[in-house]
Amino acid sequence: MAEILDAIIIGSGPAGLTAAIYVVRGSFKTLILGGTRWGGQLMLTTTVENFPGFPNGIQGPQLMQEMRLQAERLGVTFVSRDVTEVNFSQRPFRIIADNIEYQSKSIIIATGAVDRWLGIPGEAQLIGRGVSSCAPCDAAFFKDKRVIVVGGGDSAMEEAIVLAKFATEVTIVHRGSKFRASQLLQERVFKYSKIKIIYDTQVIEIGGKDKVISARLKDNQHEWAIPIDGVFVAIGHDPATNIFRGKIEMDEKGYIKKISNYQLPNSNFQTMTSVEGVFVAGDVHDHHFRQAVTAAGFGCQAAMEAIRWLEEQSASPREVSGLGPAT
Ligand code: NAP
Repeated sequence: MAEILDAIIIGSGPAGLTAAIYVVRGSFKTLILGGTRWGGQLMLTTTVENFPGFPNGIQGPQLMQEMRLQAERLGVTFVSRDVTEVNFSQRPFRIIADNIEYQSKSIIIATGAVDRWLGIPGEAQLIGRGVSSCAPCDAAFFKDKRVIVVGGGDSAMEEAIVLAKFATEVTIVHRGSKFRASQLLQERVFKYSKIKIIYDTQVIEIGGKDKVISARLKDNQHEWAIPIDGVFVAIGHDPATNIFRGKIEMDEKGYIKKISNYQLPNSNFQTMTSVEGVFVAGDVHDHHFRQAVTAAGFGCQAAMEAIRWLEEQSASPREVSGLGPAT
């Protein structure tokens, strides 16, 4: 029979790793189910300049590696398996990852968010053949080629800057008339003569059979095609919550809801979900800030509440109530 852990953290970005560091330091048996592609969105970025403590910036993957090392050194067990099923209808909670069952008294969900795609003809079949969502991963394949970046946020600016180091021409295609990216990143983009910008325009089709050869664009009045070698899609993210559907309350966009109405003795929880004993942290519930540092802060909050809840459970065993998805 599987060992019953105190806390399982699902997800291994800044929220999950910070939560793990806090829970394990509370002397609780803590396991992270970190996924086969562990580390979250920072694994796909280059220099992070806004995470405090690194005056010269730090590479995203290195920051995650350091957080993981810190958690493991403190005693967290890190498992690189993908969760396929959760059962929150009884305690201990049960989680299946790679056909292995894990059991835990509490859960912290920190699965983050996944890339959003355009959903236009040609896109899905050409992913990995010129269509990408990760310039730091794929930019080197576009040396001396022409690429477009779709989006107007910080990600699109960063992708364009990374690509400008390799490609001959980078065109940012944005559906709006101004970027929502930070002023700093916009100004950096504007300094590159090889980055061109097309506003008020959508990419409506990507052409090519085995590789990208063209993109079809559309503005208010026209539709036209341009020859192109790559399309980088940087239009935001969706919460990674598929495995929790029907098991826990979410909002209409699929973000997990925090339900802070559990009135246990002397307690009022802010990070608990619709299932008592299941907490949430990071981009999987936060569609507003979505920063590494805020995710880490949310991880800390969820961990401190999980610790408090676990302590209350062992101090005053009581009838299990409120289990299962709230209706
Ligand atoms: P975002 O801020 O949500 O921006 C998404 C962009 O894609 C928007 O410009 C949006 O257009 C556009 N878009 C969305 N759906 C589209 C569609 N179907 N077709 C065409 N365009 C579409 O996402 P993000 O840039 O990934 O950033 C997410 C968060 O991470 C933000 O909080 C950001 O500050 C942060 N971030 C920070 C850094 C950094 O600090 N270095 C780097 C990357 C990301 P509209 O503007 O018209 O809505």
